Amino acid sequence: MHEAEDGWLARVRLPGGKVAAAQFLAIAELAARGNGLVDVTARANLQVRGLREDAGAVVAEALEAVGLLPSRAHERVRNVLASPLGGRHPLALASSDEVVATLDCGLCADMELAELPQRFLFAVDDGSGTALGQTADVGLVAEGARAFRLLIDGIPTGAVVATRDAPVLALRVARAFLALKAEHGDRAWRIAELLGGAAAVSERLAARLEPAALVPAAAAIPPGICEQRDGRLALTALPPLGRLDGETVAALGELALEHGGDLRVGPAKTITLVDVEPSRVDELATSVRELGLVTEPGSGWEGLSACAGLHACAKARIDVRAAAAARAVVRGAGAGREHWSGCERRCGETRDVRLRIAASGDAIAVGGQIVSDVEGALSLLDSEADA
Ligand code: SF4
Repeated sequence: MHEAEDGWLARVRLPGGKVAAAQFLAIAELAARGNGLVDVTARANLQVRGLREDAGAVVAEALEAVGLLPSRAHERVRNVLASPLGGRHPLALASSDEVVATLDCGLCADMELAELPQRFLFAVDDGSGTALGQTADVGLVAEGARAFRLLIDGIPTGAVVATRDAPVLALRVARAFLALKAEHGDRAWRIAELLGGAAAVSERLAARLEPAALVPAAAAIPPGICEQRDGRLALTALPPLGRLDGETVAALGELALEHGGDLRVGPAKTITLVDVEPSRVDELATSVRELGLVTEPGSGWEGLSACAGLHACAKARIDVRAAAAARAVVRGAGAGREHWSGCERRCGETRDVRLRIAASGDAIAVGGQIVSDVEGALSLLDSEADA
């Protein structure tokens, strides 16, 4: 639980972004205890907003009841991104679901690993590149149907291991990071901040760094329909600015129940319903669109994000969510990632953001330029698009 301007928020970590329909419905019930808002985060987690300060115990019990809180000691360190389609993507080489599940179990079984910093990130990619949009401290990328290559701080290594050994290897990297951190009295949160960085960790593991090794290019799954490798379909939907309300979460859970698949929260703040029968996908897409989510590619909401903003964060000095909504109407989907922040802390701004707009002192920084207010920022962006 963290305190915010609109009450307390509970972050629900979803390793690999995988959520069963019943778990989604449980989150909808929790939202009803708060102000009804649920955020999708850039780490493919969910945040239930506007809870009472004393709601922690009830939230924890509700999450435990549906298997979303397997270890209270490890809750902050279960940071595992994965390809949203979990091996179903046409470019996937292997399933990543089992690797994520085993990695999460191993993490929760080791009390030493509960000491990992909460920013420490694992990523498991099925070969499609759809889990590689952010630099993870420890990455596993499918290399053929039965093997995964290890990446440390985003740098490929020569360590390619059988699928069953991949989670064990990932956890060894995490332990090596903790050991080096302890030896140096280092306060690093990420491998990149550690003395010696990825090179020190790889040396500890006797795994060569091989920056030139080929790994898939990072890719995002756009809103719309994707044909899975097994012929069924996946429908990806984008909630504008990553925000849902409890009723929408409940409705999505019901739709997933009806279609017999689970839901996948993706690092691009998308929600995917997998294993949809082709004959039912149009009806499903219509239902999801009626909930206010974007279900087709080409929307100006794609690649557009904003921090929690006014009324949710006391530090916000401008209404970033209203400004971003104005941008969604005019920007093209092909425009690079654009992020709006209500203050200099720039929460939610990921490394792949191309256009950064943030309140700065009494003004607003738009990329490298300074303007006096939101209107100035919007017209500057419009004029640059015209040029
Ligand atoms: S960037 Fe600033 S205003 Fe936005 S959520 Fe973070 S602290 Fe709050």
